[in-house]
Amino acid sequence: MVVVQPTAFCNINCTYCYLPDRNNKHVIAQSTVARLFSEIFASGWTCPEITVVWHAGEPLAVPVAFYREAFAAIERMRPQSVIVKHSFQTNGMLIDAEWCRLFLEWNVGVGVSIDGPRELHDRHRKTRSGKGTFDKTLAGIRCLRANGVPFHVISVLSRDSLSMPDELLDFYLSEGIDQICFNIEESEGDHVSDLFAPNPEGPSLRARYAAFLRRFWHQARASGQVKFVREIDLALPRVFRPDGSPTRNIQTEPLAMLNVDSHGNVSSFSPELLGLKNKDYGDFLLGNINRQSLAEIHRTCIDSALHRDIQAGVQACSAGCDYFSVCGGGAPGNKLFENGSFASTTTSYCLLTQMVPTDLILEAYERLEQSWTENDPAPIVQPNSQTTAEAAALPTRMP
Ligand code: SF4
Repeated sequence: MVVVQPTAFCNINCTYCYLPDRNNKHVIAQSTVARLFSEIFASGWTCPEITVVWHAGEPLAVPVAFYREAFAAIERMRPQSVIVKHSFQTNGMLIDAEWCRLFLEWNVGVGVSIDGPRELHDRHRKTRSGKGTFDKTLAGIRCLRANGVPFHVISVLSRDSLSMPDELLDFYLSEGIDQICFNIEESEGDHVSDLFAPNPEGPSLRARYAAFLRRFWHQARASGQVKFVREIDLALPRVFRPDGSPTRNIQTEPLAMLNVDSHGNVSSFSPELLGLKNKDYGDFLLGNINRQSLAEIHRTCIDSALHRDIQAGVQACSAGCDYFSVCGGGAPGNKLFENGSFASTTTSYCLLTQMVPTDLILEAYERLEQSWTENDPAPIVQPNSQTTAEAAALPTRMP
């Protein structure tokens, strides 16, 4: 997976945003994009399908013409054996008919960030002058639907939305939104989430999130109108692995996620590390694609303290966590920001993306098993097929 930052700039200013450089309007050069993909294709390390996510700023703040030129250049370089699937994660406010034409022509996966109905969305997703962005985001979603562009949404769950699964579902259904992903408002970079504030009188965050997701998942299925709930549908094939092989975790493998900023700087592992700084690891950068080959960057990565400490964290997970076989060692970025060390284990990522979904799936499976023993033999479990929302399954927690 390749995450490319076309620009660090974002046209809005969400209260939970941790991207430090969101006023910077610099745009990645076409020559940097060309250099990046010529290195990727020449490396021989690619899998048959590469997902390219244009993100880490507002990608639609860069003109449509930029992407037409970049996509065409990548297409000219692409070996026949490799499929390139482009994907955007956008706040949706700039979507118009011209963007929709680009999305359809290039079969772009589109993810729109919307936090649910107006009262939830406008609390955090604001313009620089502090106004809510709900109307413009919804206009973008309606434009996608009017033009027949498939899309999914990512909603950041806050303290309030965890108690509103039915309201969220009603909103999605009323707007024809049928592919849904949730992120949790996390503490990352300079942002401190209030979701994790101690709540001695009430249920734990894990219990509240489990109640939310159980209710949302069951009601969404019952509606017959929701095709994909990422937290469950992507956990299913990790939980039910017919060959028993361990789950692959591209956030812990060197360069399995290649994250490139608008100046050509390269990082790997959790995408949110790109652009942040830390006293032990500096800027997390492994090189610059304009000056080093991918092979050189790979060597730097393998020799880095970053890699060493992330692997120590994976080993600790493998030794001590019951969920390791479905998780593969978690999200290094969360480990560092929440626990202060890559060489650590449990984080909010574990609770919310691994443990709770796994528990809910096993809970449902046990109920099914009981009904099979009482009635008929077991049917074959068939997880949902891949959808455009697969791209949103990126192990990124970016909102
Ligand atoms: S769930 Fe958390 S503690 Fe368990 S393997 Fe994953 S990252 Fe490690």
